[in-house]
Amino acid sequence: MGFTSKIVHSDRRDPIEHGSIHKPVHTAVTFAYDDARDLAAVFQGEQSGYSYGRQVNPTVTALQDKITIMEQGVATAAFGTGMAAIGTTLFALLRAGDHFISSSFLFGNTNSLFSSFAAHGIEVTFVDATSADSVAAEIRENTRMVFVETIANPRTQVSDLVGIGDLCRENDIAYVVDNTMTTPYLFVPKEVGASLVVNSLTKYIGGHANALGGAVTETGLFDWSAFTNIYDNYKKGDVSNWAITQIKKKGLRDFGASLGPEAAHHISVGSDTLALRMDRIGSNAQQLAEYLDGHEKVKQVYYPGLTHHPEHQRSCELFKSHGGIFSVELVDDVDCFDFINHLDLVICSSNLGDTRSLAIPVAHSIYFEMGPERRASMGIDDSLVRFSIGIEEPEDLLADFEQALAIS
Ligand SMILES: *Cc1c(COP(=O)(O)O)cnc(C)c1O
Repeated sequence: MGFTSKIVHSDRRDPIEHGSIHKPVHTAVTFAYDDARDLAAVFQGEQSGYSYGRQVNPTVTALQDKITIMEQGVATAAFGTGMAAIGTTLFALLRAGDHFISSSFLFGNTNSLFSSFAAHGIEVTFVDATSADSVAAEIRENTRMVFVETIANPRTQVSDLVGIGDLCRENDIAYVVDNTMTTPYLFVPKEVGASLVVNSLTKYIGGHANALGGAVTETGLFDWSAFTNIYDNYKKGDVSNWAITQIKKKGLRDFGASLGPEAAHHISVGSDTLALRMDRIGSNAQQLAEYLDGHEKVKQVYYPGLTHHPEHQRSCELFKSHGGIFSVELVDDVDCFDFINHLDLVICSSNLGDTRSLAIPVAHSIYFEMGPERRASMGIDDSLVRFSIGIEEPEDLLADFEQALAIS
């Protein structure tokens, strides 16, 4: 079955009361047991069931199962935000004295989070992940993990996902891929050997900017018996489940960054149309990027769908389309604030992955805190505007860009 046929029927794989076609929103925080032995068995991991809402909830479980199907994985843990999914996963799996390697082309808050790990005894090296060689050069004896994004935001660098996957497999290093930009519809990181896949559900998967959420999916590929940081308690059953169990216990349960049932419901309904939205978004972004590329008021367009993009070929080979994010540097005498203000349809806003097209002046907002030096090292020009293209009709978007550039 195809992607959409599978996910729109995923809730009904288990019978739902009254034949309900959505998993209901279960708001109960706690769950009652007739036999105290059953409650004990749930606590001891001998029996599946619900104990307390911080750890899991039936509505959230249904969403986790849906994400697992999308990512072709074995299990998923959902969180209150994408950042919670990333922070909690690293906290649960790394210890003081460990080292990990991360792409330097990262979502801004992930970059900020990773920069704080050193103070807790976990060292990170940032590398140019468009080449597996730069990752290979930094591998040490205590390197436990490599973290990359698929298409980076805002400059759209595409990681060497295959090369880094091979490298991690050869060196028994956990390979974590943040698939938020591509989504499991455009790309399945398991196919390049990812051990764990992160998704911010807030973005394309939920898709309508009405709920925050995050997820991490275990692909089943990594041999966690070769990973030194799994607590004995969680070395039970199938070895492919050890890490996700530890993430759920040491991460989700102990940190408590849980996804609420109402948000899980919004995200689940939104995700039904993921494939349709991504097809429209990808084709809109491609048309707009081509229009802007070569426009007299535009200095540079960064989009993997353009043939002059350094990783264009890789993007064609790996992804179903080149996604919905591109950024633009304007010529010197066009002010990026004026340009954004002249756009009517496109909204000035910090989110991405919405149904509506959004624009943001990167250096002055999401990358402001890191300062000019770090921005320069990441190739963030002061005039850079990032667009997250939505599902509006392409002719309306083109007309909006045309009129805004004409008067800027
Ligand atoms: C937005 C985003 C996150 C964080 O997700 P939130 O749900 O906003 O916490 C992580 N990674 C990437 C690539 C993102 O775009």
